[in-house]
Amino acid sequence: MGRWSNWGRSASSTPSAVALPGSEDELCSLLAAAHPEGRRVKVVGGSHSFTDIAATDGTLISLDKLQGLTRVDPTTGWVSMRGGTRVWTISDALEPYGLALPNMGDIDRQSIAGALSTGTHGTGLGLTGYSGIVRGLRLALADGSVVTASAEENPQLFQAARVGLGAIGVILEVTLACVPSFVVRADEHPVELAEMLPSFVDLCRHEDHVEFYWFQHATQVAAKVNTRLPADAERAPLTRRQILLDDELLSNGGHRALCELGRLVPGTVPALNRFATKALASRVYTDRSDRIFVSPRRTRFREMEYAVPLEDFEAVFTEVMAAVNGFGAGITFPLEVRAAAADDTWLGTASGRESAYIALHRFVKEDHVPYFAAVEPILKAAAGRPHWGKLHTRTAEELRTVYPRFDDFLAVRDAVDPGGVFANAYLDRVLGQAPGRA
Ligand SMILES: Cc1cc2nc3c(=O)[nH]c(=O)nc-3n(C[C@H](O)[C@H](O)[C@H](O)COP(=O)(O)OP(=O)(O)OC[C@H]3O[C@@H](n4cnc5c(N)ncnc54)[C@H](O)[C@@H]3O)c2cc1C
Repeated sequence: MGRWSNWGRSASSTPSAVALPGSEDELCSLLAAAHPEGRRVKVVGGSHSFTDIAATDGTLISLDKLQGLTRVDPTTGWVSMRGGTRVWTISDALEPYGLALPNMGDIDRQSIAGALSTGTHGTGLGLTGYSGIVRGLRLALADGSVVTASAEENPQLFQAARVGLGAIGVILEVTLACVPSFVVRADEHPVELAEMLPSFVDLCRHEDHVEFYWFQHATQVAAKVNTRLPADAERAPLTRRQILLDDELLSNGGHRALCELGRLVPGTVPALNRFATKALASRVYTDRSDRIFVSPRRTRFREMEYAVPLEDFEAVFTEVMAAVNGFGAGITFPLEVRAAAADDTWLGTASGRESAYIALHRFVKEDHVPYFAAVEPILKAAAGRPHWGKLHTRTAEELRTVYPRFDDFLAVRDAVDPGGVFANAYLDRVLGQAPGRA
């Protein structure tokens, strides 16, 4: 059997079997067969989590054949789709209905179920991550039975499965509250660090979507401020030349070359970072929302990201910067800062609190462990919640202290999968073992 590994090459495993079911019945039969024997099963989406959340030595199931929209209600904007649907297909599929996803993360390579299961988010203080817009789910449970869940029907199951870590059931179908399609104007420009830090929270309150990138030792940040416009607003997309020059040469291929140089000649990193900050040119462009939210990421890296209470952002980020600047080696990838609204999920990283996200990245050919270890204690002390799909070292005992509904989640998991059919080493660490395995 072939080896499975993730996009960031930070997790791998050797499944005992791989399955690509062509129907829901086939999938449920696989579960029903595995269940009595206590065999482990894991559904993977796009394998874009950095953690080993999708790793398994049991049966690995891909839902790549179970994709696509299943229902659209143009009146409410509620759209149902199969769990395996890749995020990059959704915007084109919604366009004929005049609908769009309200917000998106940096990339669209995930499956919608994978994105939900780890609490994937973008930026925008008026908006939640994907899980906050879920209105209904249809799930295959560990024994192969199928249930529907919403705020009214099986509400406990619904709450747990919206950010379910792959531990609750297989998402066969999800209904999302979409919005009328819109255009976004992106304004990218450098800002003095000393100006951005005290104004970030305020900026997030006044602008639709704010994020910034800060390179080690830099005194400026590269800011991106996005404004939502009506669907018929005039578009001024990036030209092919800009895409080639800015996005391919500077952000992807060119940045990879800088990372390689910085790795081979560490003394060049401060100069490379100054160059990289300046090279992220000032530019304004307008296009369909998904084309602004999403960018290609072709230079592989590893990432750790924590959500911290928004009001603590400046103090926490100042401490993080000091640790990054004091770190013994040059870091060629920037920190990324975003924000999101509070949501009412149980295990979403913004559950119950407005959140600032602080993400650290390291080039795939360098050792991320000491770098992340230098910063993680700061984020942990700030009551930070790690992204479930990005690298961290936290355990169930620690995570319980930052999630008020942690034990409610476990109660649902223990009820629907007592034998730990969906368990793996990652889930054992962050949730504790299922009762039948303990
Ligand atoms: C380059 C890059 C950029 C990223 N940018 C962002 C970003 O902007 N914002 C952000 O929040 N995150 C981001 N991420 C993280 C990413 O969104 C999450 O890790 C997401 O889970 C990946 O989705 P996936 O389909 O690849 O899921 P996988 O990694 O394949 O699986 C993740 C989990 O979902 C479960 N799962 C998959 N399908 C199902 C199903 N049908 N039913 C139940 N469980 C299922 C798996 O079992 C596993 O537990 C990024 C990752 C990368 C590599």
